[in-house]
Parts: sequence; C-alpha cells; structure tokens
Amino acid sequence: MPTSNETPNRHDVIIIGAGIIGCAIALSMTRKGYKTLNVDALPAAGYGSTSSSAAVIRTYYSTRDGTAMALEGYHDWKNWQAYLETEDAGELAHFIETGTLVMKTASDNYQKHVLEHADALGIPYEHWSADRITQELPGYNLDCFAPAKTMDDDDFGMPTGGALQGGVFFPAGATSRSANRRPQPEGCGSQAWGAVPLQDQDCQDSGREQPCHRCSH
Ligand SMILES: Cc1cc2nc3c(=O)[nH]c(=O)nc-3n(C[C@H](O)[C@H](O)[C@H](O)COP(=O)(O)OP(=O)(O)OC[C@H]3O[C@@H](n4cnc5c(N)ncnc54)[C@H](O)[C@@H]3O)c2cc1C
Repeated sequence: MPTSNETPNRHDVIIIGAGIIGCAIALSMTRKGYKTLNVDALPAAGYGSTSSSAAVIRTYYSTRDGTAMALEGYHDWKNWQAYLETEDAGELAHFIETGTLVMKTASDNYQKHVLEHADALGIPYEHWSADRITQELPGYNLDCFAPAKTMDDDDFGMPTGGALQGGVFFPAGATSRSANRRPQPEGCGSQAWGAVPLQDQDCQDSGREQPCHRCSH
C-alpha cells in the first residue's frame, strides 16, 4: 500500500534504472498511487540501451511469453497517447505502421518457433519468397555475408556466396519516430518499410565452395 502521502520527501519505491523498463515501471506504479524515484548512473533517462533502440516495434520473438508481451506492447505503442493518458502537444513519438520482415535462415530454423508463437497468439503473417522481397523492397540485398567480419578485414562487406531464400512479413509491425526528428528520405527501402534483416544472416547453397559456419547447406 502507498505510504508516502503524508511524507512528501519520502518514496514508496526506488527503481534502479531509468531506461524504458524502469520508466514504464514508474508510470504503472505511480498510477497505482505509489510515489516512485528512479535512480540511474547515467546523466538522464533513456541513456542506456534505450538510447540505442532502432525504434522497431515488432511482434516476433523466440519465446511465447516474449511474443505475448511484445504484442501487448505493440497495441500500447499504437495507442501511445491513450497509453500515456496525456494531451499530444505535437511532441509525442509517431507510430508508423510499416510491417516488419524477418528473414528465414537455417540458424533460426526458418522461423519455426516464431511462427508457432504467432499462430498460438493469432498474430498474422505472410511468407515472402526472395522474388517477393526484391519486388516489395527494391534494392534489398539477399546475398549471404556470414560469417561476420570485423571492419579491418579485407573482405568486410563482401558477399560470401549463397543467398537468403525468403522471409516472413508481419503486417502488425511499426517504427516509432520522434516528433522532432527529420523524416527519412524517400526511396529508403528497408527503413521506410521498417524491415529488419536479422544479424544471423545465412544462406542456402547457390554455388559456394565452402559452407558458411551457420549454414547446413
Ligand atoms: C543497438 C540496439 C538496437 C535496438 N533496437 C531495438 C528496436 O528497434 N526495438 C526494440 O524493441 N528494442 C530494441 N533494442 C532493445 C531495447 O533497446 C532494450 O531492450 C531496452 O532499451 C532495454 O531497456 P531497459 O530499460 O531494460 O535497459 P536500459 O535502457 O539499458 O536501462 C537500464 C538503465 O539502468 C541503469 N543502471 C543499471 N544498473 C544500475 C545501477 N547499479 N545503478 C544505477 N543505474 C543502473 C543504466 O545506466 C541504464 O540507464 C535495441 C538495443 C540495442 C542495443
């Protein structure tokens, strides 16, 4: 039970961290009547991992619980003003429904578990072939670049042979954009679509001499 009503300099709850999670906890507890204090080692709220976020709002995750939480979060982002229970004076982040595309890779078992979670939770998706991807996202490079290389490697940025064969498109996906951020230039394929190439790029055989370490082909 909240106890701080008569002691304004005291707090009911001290939350370590003022990233998106710590701030969301503070908001929820404040709504329940608790007086909260976020403490953070960094100079301001959101300076940790939160400041690095690419602002992708997606509903595909590797665990059922994570997927369910992301789906709930998707609806909160979609109704951001209502979630915050505040007026929008033009400063709230914009929710831009782009859909999100995740590639099918051998190392991800071609998204088998992700799709099982989506089926269980009623999250819609479409299978996209390589042709569909390049048709929808002109300029998208499906070449395989695995294994990852450091920037001082002579072959950094060079394809290693093979290509991705397809992906899964989730219409319920978005990006959020700060109200005061400049818009993306037009024609900026994957950013405009909110498409997210996985870090685990791998490939299926298309003539490579040595299989990459992720790929069973
Ligand atoms: C490059 C990158 C891109 C990402 N892109 C996306 C994306 O597009 N979409 C998405 O949904 N997620 C994305 N994420 C993940 C997302 O940013 C994180 O999951 C999320 O920000 C984590 O929030 P958090 O509050 O738990 O952590 P943080 O934002 O890191 O907050 C934790 C805070 O706790 C403080 N802290 C920790 N220990 C102490 C201590 N002992 N004393 C005082 N302070 C302490 C830290 O200083 C920090 O400020 C991305 C992450 C990265 C790194």
